[in-house]
Amino acid sequence: MSRRERILAEMGLAPIWRLRHSGFSQDEQVEEKNLDNNTGPAGSGWMELKQAVPACTACGLHTSRTQTVFGVGDEKADWLLVGEAPGAEEDRLGDPFVGQAGKLLDNMLAAIGLDRRTNVYIANVLKCRPPGNRNPEPGEVAKCTPFLLKQIELIQPKLIVAMGRFAAQTLLASDASIASLRGRLHRYAGVPLVVTYHPAYLLRNLPDKAKAWEDLVFARRTMQSLLDTRESASA
Ligand code: URA
Repeated sequence: MSRRERILAEMGLAPIWRLRHSGFSQDEQVEEKNLDNNTGPAGSGWMELKQAVPACTACGLHTSRTQTVFGVGDEKADWLLVGEAPGAEEDRLGDPFVGQAGKLLDNMLAAIGLDRRTNVYIANVLKCRPPGNRNPEPGEVAKCTPFLLKQIELIQPKLIVAMGRFAAQTLLASDASIASLRGRLHRYAGVPLVVTYHPAYLLRNLPDKAKAWEDLVFARRTMQSLLDTRESASA
């Protein structure tokens, strides 16, 4: 069994679906993007943001957090994945998606040939953990969203994958359900956006993993056609 087949089997995604396009060089894209951007990955804007987030006291969540969870990954990534809010493990360690949902997310990324360390950035709508893993409250989302929007502005991803209701509804300014939003291409500020289920939801609803896989294949295909379009425009 190949590594990909093992990962898909672990995700409960057997029999195996094969991607029509079998991968592209992430390294080449990162390099090209960094060359495009004279300020480099930690250019102005990131520094201020990385100071502002841990200092934030705009909502009550600052009183119960161990630390803020800023986001992780390649600051010039083509792929931006957006989740909901840190959980207990993320609050303890300071990185997004490091608990059980994070393991599933890493497997989902691997299934489409991605790795959280390369050409991918992962962030949440909320930078602080809601106590007891309750849902984010509207006021908390409103106070925290500007940080996420600034991250998007700085990263300039080619594609955003909104995972779960809070990410999708926040970025699309919609109150529609995930079921009604997934399966088609949306845009946030002109950036193509794909909606899928949140990995923590998938851990509780195993049959929907197959739908999440469809979403990932759709996202992967969308990225490929964005890259193809750019290539043919520059030829
Ligand atoms: N769930 C999220 O939405 N984000 C995390 O970082 C962890 C779990």
